[in-house]
Amino acid sequence: MKVYLLPQNGKFYKANLHSHSTLSDGKWTIEEMKEKYKAQGYSIIAYTDHHVFLTHNDLADEDFLPLNGYEIDISEDKPWSRYIKTCHFCLIALDRDRTVQNIYHNSVYIDRNADKVDLAKDRAPITRRYDPEFISALMQEAREDGFFVTYNHPVWSLESAEECFRYHGMHAMEIVNYSSYVTGHEERNSNLYDAMLHSGEDIYCIAADDNHDVYPIGHPKCDSFGGFTMIKAEKLEYGAVTQALLDGHFYASEGPEIHELYYDSDDNRVHIKTTEAVRILMTTGNRYNNAKTAERKGETVTETSFKLEQPDTDYVRFIVRDREGKEAYTHAYRVSEIRAAGK
Ligand SMILES: [Zn+2]
Ligand SMILES: [Zn+2]
Repeated sequence: MKVYLLPQNGKFYKANLHSHSTLSDGKWTIEEMKEKYKAQGYSIIAYTDHHVFLTHNDLADEDFLPLNGYEIDISEDKPWSRYIKTCHFCLIALDRDRTVQNIYHNSVYIDRNADKVDLAKDRAPITRRYDPEFISALMQEAREDGFFVTYNHPVWSLESAEECFRYHGMHAMEIVNYSSYVTGHEERNSNLYDAMLHSGEDIYCIAADDNHDVYPIGHPKCDSFGGFTMIKAEKLEYGAVTQALLDGHFYASEGPEIHELYYDSDDNRVHIKTTEAVRILMTTGNRYNNAKTAERKGETVTETSFKLEQPDTDYVRFIVRDREGKEAYTHAYRVSEIRAAGK
């Protein structure tokens, strides 16, 4: 019996789940972003301008879906220095018709968009405090209030693994943040993702651009089109796509694509089909990993399978690396759940 870890039905839609437009500190208007991302094969952009929750449903068309969101940041309360730690997270509304912004603080971006934002009348602005309990409570509240919560760019934020372990309430963390990467940070958080899973968090991983588009397309510091999430949904509709996010029907990527991922209880193996890869890895975050590497230098593989044989393995996840060193990452799948579904 086959258990599809990425759903068998539906269609993959290319998504950028973290972006900034001229409504905050980005250089492209929301319309320009739509046009330029569509030209690169994207179907979905989550507009997550800083501090202010705005809706962009008018941008939707047959081939394009805007998701509505915003990004919150909470920094250490110290005089500015290059060592200040900060915590950023994005909130993406699950419901297309959601307009009210409950969690907000005083911000120039709210003032600038005062005619468009729908601030909760019965809520005062929050006073930001860089404290894991306070931040976790906000993540939890946002989650219960109908948002998909992603934790952003820990490397750029100067947050250590120990600090990340104290955040509870996110749905996903950024395994890749391309803007941070192009500005010189090793913002690939594959090992940290394992550490978060081992610390007990049941979370997904996404890749996103966090584009501000200060540099033009083609410039080495252009921060668009480098980190994306492939979402498999029944159709390109708001509710179907946000449900796919909640259900984990997606993978993160810098380039490689994953066409199929399923467990077959008949051979007790997970099967994966991809675009041309030099290496496909099944990691457990423990010592018993497995990898399929191309036989010879210059060659590639596009499918393989891995036996689920270690009885005490908590989870498996899959990493696909292409010739350019770009990677795709699935989120972690609990082995007990995979096996139970295959019975
Ligand atoms: Zn940020
Ligand atoms: Zn951002």
